Amino acid sequence: MTPTDQPRRRDEIAASLRLAREEIAAACAAAGRVPSDVTLVAVTKNFPAEDAAHLAALGVSDLGENRDQEASEKARELADLGVPVRWHFVGRLQRNKARSVAEYAHLVQSVDRAALVSALDDACRRRDRRLDVLVQISLDGDPSRGGVVPAERDALVESVLAAENLSLRGVMAVAPVEWQPIKAFESLADHADQVRRLAPQATEMSAGMTGDFAEAISCGATMIRLGSKLLGARRNVGYPVR
Ligand SMILES: *Cc1c(COP(=O)(O)O)cnc(C)c1O
Repeated sequence: MTPTDQPRRRDEIAASLRLAREEIAAACAAAGRVPSDVTLVAVTKNFPAEDAAHLAALGVSDLGENRDQEASEKARELADLGVPVRWHFVGRLQRNKARSVAEYAHLVQSVDRAALVSALDDACRRRDRRLDVLVQISLDGDPSRGGVVPAERDALVESVLAAENLSLRGVMAVAPVEWQPIKAFESLADHADQVRRLAPQATEMSAGMTGDFAEAISCGATMIRLGSKLLGARRNVGYPVR
């Protein structure tokens, strides 16, 4: 991207954002909810740091990434530009990346096993910080795309609650491809209720992406994660794939 393209790119993102905000407001109105109850997380994976900076300048301060390498580079670039954002980690996370993630993440949405809980807790202890997390649920019980299987949910919740440096904020899921979004998000809302019996402060429900955020809002999502709706079709900008 040459510098002269940048105003045009910013305008393009501004227009997508305006449309997304309108559709979020409409989905909230239809559900008897208010837009301020729904946090928009812009997923910037595969897009350059400039796009993330445009989003922040347009008022979107919650940004999501799904790979540590790309996220840590982008977080550094935005910090160097003096742009304050809250980074959400939304992808599968290996234990050996916990220390890196603890340097920039505001919320890790994809906690799905006890080994990751202890790795994140240790990383936070070293840095003398607390970290907010969501427990990711595998709604169909297939853990291959991430998430804890329902039968192991409560044990995982207990392990997060026992971790000194982690704060459980709620649950997250990705709708299984074969499921109707409403079925998926009603199921997640049910998991969210069950988790709140163990942890009343865990009020966040992160659900809904470009294709299904309206359904997620109708089922009570408090956080939606939009990528292509805001930034267009994902292209690779050269961040290494690990
Ligand atoms: C990529 C991604 C998103 C955004 O997806 P879009 O369909 O582009 O909105 C949301 N959540 C997670 C976990 C993702 O990996």
